[in-house]
Amino acid sequence: MPNPKYKRVLLKVSGEGLCATGATGIDGGELRRLADEIKLVVDLGIQIGLVIGGGNIVRGANIAKDTPIEETTGHYMGMLATIINALSVQDTLESIGVPTRVQSALSVQNVCENFIRRRAIRHMEKGRVVIFAAGTGNPFVTTDTGAALRASEVNADILLKATKVDGVYTADPMTDPTATRIERLTFNEVIDKRLKVMDLAAVDLCQRSNIPIVVLDLKKTGNMRAVILGEDIGTMINGE
Ligand code: UDP
Repeated sequence: MPNPKYKRVLLKVSGEGLCATGATGIDGGELRRLADEIKLVVDLGIQIGLVIGGGNIVRGANIAKDTPIEETTGHYMGMLATIINALSVQDTLESIGVPTRVQSALSVQNVCENFIRRRAIRHMEKGRVVIFAAGTGNPFVTTDTGAALRASEVNADILLKATKVDGVYTADPMTDPTATRIERLTFNEVIDKRLKVMDLAAVDLCQRSNIPIVVLDLKKTGNMRAVILGEDIGTMINGE
């Protein structure tokens, strides 16, 4: 039997994790791929909370730039987009037999539960994947901060941040062939150097809550399972 290193995991997936590279909207194949990765971890008996972004549909700051939409409204639209994404992941997970609940920071009571911390923990203890939608429920922040917040609230052992590349690099690996992967960073290094790993507010909160972050490429099959089993994949951010 494999011996998992973590018991309760908070996974942050950006909205772009639900669509093909460079595209927008929601892609069935990408949804299934994500659900399969999550199932590999659920099958280890790990408790999972999932925070989904909304950038594949709306980012508040962007939509406010070229339209008469006020920025605050744009942020609420972004949060609503995360609820749309959460529902799509919910049905995909359930289609492969993984029980789920969606809990939203904004009340949309006809389609999902409101976020209630103790209920979320109970769902996870019962083996349900809890999908946290609508970020923090407040404008002007992102779902990265929502992920750090929920990770802290449910006492997650680790926050997994899914990105397009397998960790943090010395330069942009998409454009610079000399870029190398950094295996470990401290919270202070990320904050002091303003590394674009996650929002600084999210990193700061993880530091205060003592929740390590692993940045990994979720599109590589088995990566998340491997991290849970203790393999050195991606970039680990922890310590002082
Ligand atoms: N958003 C917000 N408050 C939150 C979380 C998200 O206002 O607590 C809005 C914000 O406009 C953000 C959008 O929702 O741009 C989509 O979330 P995010 O950009 O984090 O999505 P991702 O880049 O992870 O797909």
